[in-house]
Amino acid sequence: MMRVVVLPAGVRIVEAKAPDPGPGEAQLRMVVAGVCGSDTHALRGRHPNVHPPYAPGHEVVGVVTAVAPEVTTVRAGQRVTVEPDLPCWECKQCRAGRQNLCERLGFFGCGSEQGGMAEMFTIDARRLHVVPDDLDDPTAALIEPLSTPVHAIRLAGGVRDRAVAILGVGTIGLLTLKVARALGARRIVVTARSAKSRARALAFGADAAVDATAPDAADQVRAELGESADVVFDCVAEQPTVTQALAIADKGGTVVVVGVPAGDVTVPLALLQDSQLRIQGSATYLPEDYVDAMELLRAGVVTAADFVTAVRPLGEAAAAFADAESGDHIKVLLAPR
Ligand SMILES: [Zn+2]
Ligand SMILES: [Zn+2]
Repeated sequence: MMRVVVLPAGVRIVEAKAPDPGPGEAQLRMVVAGVCGSDTHALRGRHPNVHPPYAPGHEVVGVVTAVAPEVTTVRAGQRVTVEPDLPCWECKQCRAGRQNLCERLGFFGCGSEQGGMAEMFTIDARRLHVVPDDLDDPTAALIEPLSTPVHAIRLAGGVRDRAVAILGVGTIGLLTLKVARALGARRIVVTARSAKSRARALAFGADAAVDATAPDAADQVRAELGESADVVFDCVAEQPTVTQALAIADKGGTVVVVGVPAGDVTVPLALLQDSQLRIQGSATYLPEDYVDAMELLRAGVVTAADFVTAVRPLGEAAAAFADAESGDHIKVLLAPR
């Protein structure tokens, strides 16, 4: 028997039988698992696709304990991280190498049968990446969240020598800031509601931080950039930030929707047409983003010292979720004990 975190209506821990690897699968012993904004949103019924009860945990590092006989890509004893998209491997998108857009996409730890906040779990071995030895466990737990901005910046066409705005500096916004800086953005201006978040973004390398609640926030961002933004990363994705993002990108800029929207918004379509604005969705990541994220971590662009603000034992999962929701933490991890 083993312990598994579940979110029925609140955070609970249940006993379950440790699963054996099915065809094509590896069995893992969890080492660390991050609490994601999507988990805390789902817990509160504010995630569009993930609804309790489910077994959370998609930012996972583990050690392979067993593999199905036909699995050759990983072996017992290897430390790995999970790429949690569970594609069908057969549809049009999968055949084109866009597994993140699979037409029958499942997602490990977001409504699939199992999640990574469990002492043991099994997963398709094709979804595992071996972690380089020079990344310690808390740093390796950042590979999955870091792959999100890496993918978003790739879809934006890169940020080198470009004017960048980042709306919202929670974990993903801060990671976007670090990567955009490392990849040569010319100037980076962020927005955030709280003074504490703005101060943290400045400490993490933003050129300026604007109060997101100011009526003229978009004008302030443009003034701090000295021009319009070439790329705006909307890490909030609510009506106010979408409206601001389009105003900041006017004219000719790209707005990348990185945050998970809780609902629909309206856009000024005439402005979008006349100013040749582009709205680009960004959904998770691909294996190439994992490769780049690991290199960025090895280069020290993003460090666990900056981002991992708490590590709690699995038995304190409810407290870890409370930490993650408090606004006082960046990334909270669970470890088996
Ligand atoms: Zn996540
Ligand atoms: Zn597919």
